[in-house]
Parts: sequence; structure tokens; C-alpha cells
Amino acid sequence: MISIQNQIRIRLLQWYDQNRRVLPWRANAGCAPNPYHVYLSEIMLQQTTVGTVINYFNRFIDRWPRIEDLAADTLDDVLVEWQGLGYYSRARNLYRAAQQMAAMGIPSDPDALQKLPGVGAYTAAAIASIAFDHPIVPVDGNVIRVFSRLFAIQTPLPALKDAVWGVASLFDHLDRAGDFAQSLMDLGSLVCKPRQPLCQNCPLVGICKAFQDDIAADLPRRIQKPPKPERFGIVYCMLDDHGRILLERRPEKGLLGGMMGFPTTPWEDGACPSGELGGQWQTLDEVVRHTFTHFHLTLHIMVGKSDGCPDGIWADLSDLSAYALPTLMKKVANKIKITYKTF
Ligand code: SF4
Repeated sequence: MISIQNQIRIRLLQWYDQNRRVLPWRANAGCAPNPYHVYLSEIMLQQTTVGTVINYFNRFIDRWPRIEDLAADTLDDVLVEWQGLGYYSRARNLYRAAQQMAAMGIPSDPDALQKLPGVGAYTAAAIASIAFDHPIVPVDGNVIRVFSRLFAIQTPLPALKDAVWGVASLFDHLDRAGDFAQSLMDLGSLVCKPRQPLCQNCPLVGICKAFQDDIAADLPRRIQKPPKPERFGIVYCMLDDHGRILLERRPEKGLLGGMMGFPTTPWEDGACPSGELGGQWQTLDEVVRHTFTHFHLTLHIMVGKSDGCPDGIWADLSDLSAYALPTLMKKVANKIKITYKTF
């Protein structure tokens, strides 16, 4: 008798052969994937949607067609190209990993891949299976959703993730590993959607436990998250008589690490830190709000004239696009440009 794993695999691969998404990093049916394309896309897709990543991926491949080209350029150039994609530690890790792989090649084994900066268990499994057909099933949000429904696993997130890795390991020995991984991703994206799964279009509807129990839309279960805390800070916009503004590079460690930005106080919970400087400094009425993964930030903006030679880079306000400014700092720059009409 055919096992449940084989039934799932056969139905999913048949469906995938007819319904697979066309994506710029994905090889055409029957063609060998380019491991660099797979690696780059998986790094970009960490916490970012496919729709957002496509343009960035195409730009990177146009500019750096091979991993050796990326490794040979500068980190600043990579950060500038990454602007707007967020989570900039990914760009720094991408650059460091590219330098290692330019010398040794892209590993095909998940354990070796996990030794690269910025590559965790999921990313390693995704690259190994998709680029090299290594027999492993990567477990991302789509796969968690599909498997939790398929087997009606009631364990709530985040513990559910370990349970799904266990279920996924039952499929590790089967062939067409890359196609199977991508078929799960595509099913999760196109059919087994988070809020309204399209069960009538699903190749697995006859064997799906959540569908039979009429609980598909309730899974995966999650523990209610506490609200994000509010943090506050001051950003200092120091101008000179030539219409330039002071930039500094943020410390390598921490949020927006290694990125260019305007000097700020530390960002503190609950209340705005004291940062009054007196003299020619004034506080703008407007503030900048931004949401990070773990907190909401409100930055009060202080604008002042330089009366010394502080460390940093004096940048023309009209030419800030030459610097790898993260979205938060771009929001600050826009407020300054709008408020100070003289620039
Ligand atoms: Fe998801 Fe419905 Fe398919 Fe089950 S039958 S895997 S709930 S789309």
C-alpha cells in the first residue's frame, strides 16, 4: 500500500509541474538551478515578500552576475543597492558569505551552509534542496501552515515549528527534493493561504485532516503576542552654511548596524530621553515614527548649526541617495527637506 508520504509527494509534484510560479531565481522545468541565484534569493526572502524581492534580485544579478563579482565589490556598494529592503544585517552577512564562497564555492550540504554568516536552518535546507536536490524539506511559514493543516497539528506556534520539522523529516528520503520543497512553498502561497485556504483547488484535499475536520482556517494556532513596546529618541540634524548635513556610520553591532545615519540618542522605553543642547538648536514640531520587528520608535528631530568640526561625513542634503540610508533615516531626511525650505 502506498504510504501517506508518497501520496502527498505524488499529488504535490503533479500539481507543481502544472502550476509552478515563474520566478527570476527559479530554473525552468528540467534545467539545473543556478546555486548563486538560489542563495541570493533565499537571503533576500528572509522576512521579505516575493513581490518586493523580485526587483532587488534582478538588480543584483544585473550588477553582479556571479558571486565572485559581488565579493569583489565594496560593502558600501552592496548596502546602497540593498536600500529599502530592510534588515541590513542580511546585506552585511551576504557580503561576508560571498567572499567565503567566491574562494571555496557554494556548499551543497546543509551543515556546511549553516556555517556561513546569515544562514540558519531553514535557509540552509532551502538552498541545499532547491539548488542541489539535497534530500531535506525546508520548513518556512508556508510549510508550517500546510503541514499543520494537512495533519491537523494543534500545537500552537512557536512550538509548532519543531513539530513540523519532525513531520518534514519523514519526507527527507524522497527524490526531486528541490521540486518538492518548492511545491510546498507554492501551495502555501497560491492555495493553502493563511486566512482563506482554497481547499477546492487543492491537490491534497482528499487527504487533508484539517479540511475533513473543518478547521483549516483556524490553523496554525498561535499564542497571542503582547503588543510591541514604544521607544523614543532624539535625532540630531546638524547643518552647515553650505547646505550640508552631518552623517555618521552607526556601530557595526545593533539595529541598523554599519549603516549611515544622523546622530541619535539611545532609543529608550517609555519616555523621550533628555537631549536638549540649547544655543542654536531647535526642536521641530514634527516627529518621525517607524516600526521595527520588536518595537515602535518615535524620534524627535533637533536641528542646529555646527560651530565646530564634529566627526562624520558632511553630505549635501540634495544628494543623500549616494549613501546607504535605511528607511528610518530617509524619513528623517524628508522631514528636514520639507521643513527647511532654504535647502
Ligand atoms: Fe490547505 Fe485546504 Fe489543501 Fe488542506 S485542503 S492543505 S487546508 S488548501
